[in-house]
Amino acid sequence: MTIVSERHVDLSSIPRLFWKSTKMAEEWKEGPAIGIDLGTTYSCVGVWHHDRVEIIVNDQGNRTTPSYVAFTEKERLVGDAAKNQVARNPANSVFDAKRLIGRRFSDPLVQNDINLWPFKVIEGSKDKPTIVVSYKGEDKQFAAEEISSMVLKKMREIAEAYLGKTVKNAVVTVPAYFNDAQRKATMDAGGIAGLNVMRILNEPTAAAIAYGLDNVGRIGKRNVLIFDLGGGTADISLLTIEESSFEVKAVAGETHLGGEDFDNRMVNHFVRIFKRRHKKDISGNARALRRLRTACERAKRILSSAIETTIEVDSLYDGIDFCSNITRAKFAELNMDLFRNSIELVEKCLTDAEMDKKSVHDVVLTGGSTRIPKVQQLLQDFFDGKELNRSINPDEAVAYGAAVQAAILTGMGNEKVQNVVLLDVTPLSLGVLAGEDDLMSVVIPRNTTIPIKMEENYTTGYDNQTEVWFSIYEGERAIAEDNHWLGEFTLRGVPAAPKGVAKLKACFDIDANGILKVSAVEESTGMSCSITITNHKARLCKEEINRMIMDAEKYKVEDDERRGRTKAKAALENHVYSIRNTINEKKICATLAAAGMEKIEAAIDQVIRWLDDIQFSEAAEFEKKLTELELICNPIIAKRCNNK
Ligand code: ADP
Ligand code: MG
Repeated sequence: MTIVSERHVDLSSIPRLFWKSTKMAEEWKEGPAIGIDLGTTYSCVGVWHHDRVEIIVNDQGNRTTPSYVAFTEKERLVGDAAKNQVARNPANSVFDAKRLIGRRFSDPLVQNDINLWPFKVIEGSKDKPTIVVSYKGEDKQFAAEEISSMVLKKMREIAEAYLGKTVKNAVVTVPAYFNDAQRKATMDAGGIAGLNVMRILNEPTAAAIAYGLDNVGRIGKRNVLIFDLGGGTADISLLTIEESSFEVKAVAGETHLGGEDFDNRMVNHFVRIFKRRHKKDISGNARALRRLRTACERAKRILSSAIETTIEVDSLYDGIDFCSNITRAKFAELNMDLFRNSIELVEKCLTDAEMDKKSVHDVVLTGGSTRIPKVQQLLQDFFDGKELNRSINPDEAVAYGAAVQAAILTGMGNEKVQNVVLLDVTPLSLGVLAGEDDLMSVVIPRNTTIPIKMEENYTTGYDNQTEVWFSIYEGERAIAEDNHWLGEFTLRGVPAAPKGVAKLKACFDIDANGILKVSAVEESTGMSCSITITNHKARLCKEEINRMIMDAEKYKVEDDERRGRTKAKAALENHVYSIRNTINEKKICATLAAAGMEKIEAAIDQVIRWLDDIQFSEAAEFEKKLTELELICNPIIAKRCNNK
């Protein structure tokens, strides 16, 4: 399968702001293309070079670069240089921009994170979070996109230094649960960094591609579990790979579970030791804690290969030099509950995908924290001793896959690379509010592979209706309003006609980046209207999606009952009104005996009054009324027919 042409640079997806001329766009198609894993705590860049992926080392000789930007009296620092000076300059050292990007200031997750950060975040215009720092003696404000763009620019420069030429094209990865707003903002960050973001790729998909090459040519479906335990987050994804295409089946995760928590556990351990030894509490001294944390992170990394290490911090507190040992076993013991939590997420992900762990063919490790031997062991035990995929460095696997995808998009790479096709899925069903009972009419069901374009036919709800309102939702509940509202538009100029005559077509189009466009057209006039779901009508975050799916399961019985009630009520209404219309149109009454007429009219009136008065009724009751009505009306009408 060749996908190069259809997946070549998607010009429409480049933020307008960065368009200078068509010529420039053409230029962007040329030259090398890199893959960037823009991480919450660390970023990584790779490129297809000499017929394989190279992970590029930065100016400090490191293969991953801290996603940190620091502002000082004199300069702006990015990466290792920024992270190294954090203890001296906490308020002006910015990290975790990925937790802010594409989110609103009022988002509870943002509010919660703000309390944890040493730098200042204020509410900007339109509920946008704004980071405030002091730079060269002046207060400066930055959006999260700008901070991320500085990290992306650094990754671009790392690649340029290695390749010895300008790099303009990149594939940038994001978590599978990122919504439209977060994806768009990430794309914007790339644009600000002077990059043409050819594709926003899901991180687990990228990790699977890194290993997927090995799977090309194998027969049948493979279920692959991606276990990503990084610096700040744990993200578990279940993918299905078939004939070189990748599909996300389910995701589960924890927004605050990762390497930084393990560092903190070790910090607390040494704070206790310091107290015991020196009778002094350093827990109130932020600078001492930060220096200790840096030493702990280093020790933690060493413990992934050594079974014991020493930490040394000169003049940690009150002029006291601190030196202590820690073993791999002690480190594991300090974090065992957290390690176990990450394994529980795997169970959750499998439950959501309704898959038994025995059906998982491959388990892929990604994220720096999966280098921890105990984590690997717990995961391997969970999968009953199965061998894990760890031949690619776990903190580089995502950038590796992104580099492969970048090579595909620019037509580079060998045949092996060309065969990889990407598929992602919609995490929730998408649809419109329809009918008098405000039901959710699903256009694209949950877990549909994207990109996708699906259509559904609708009609008017009352006579001479010339305007139709389309209200768009995502979620699994039967009633649209119980789901998450995404946006709306009104289609005007529908030709006046009796209810149900107009032919309206709604089209839901999700592109390869997961961005949704909804349009509607009235078929006789061709009149149409559309909406692209924008930042303000932001899509849902991972937690919300998970909650909604759980809610939907919880309310399934209720919702089914409600659907049944609505259907029964509609059947009764349709029947009663159609008889009345027939009578009104004098189709029957000319030949119908007056007595029969009266009987039918009385029965209809009684049902209509009952329908108007009831607040609530079970489906069975609507069905009973319908049967009663039929028992009265049908013999009379049938008699008329027979007499004719
Ligand atoms: P992100 O979560 O930002 O995507 P990574 O996947 O690179 O970033 O994970 C970074 C985390 O991995 C950090 O907490 C880092 O300390 C940790 N880490 C990196 N190497 C090792 C190692 N050898 N052993 C244990 N933890 C490691
Ligand atoms: Mg990561």
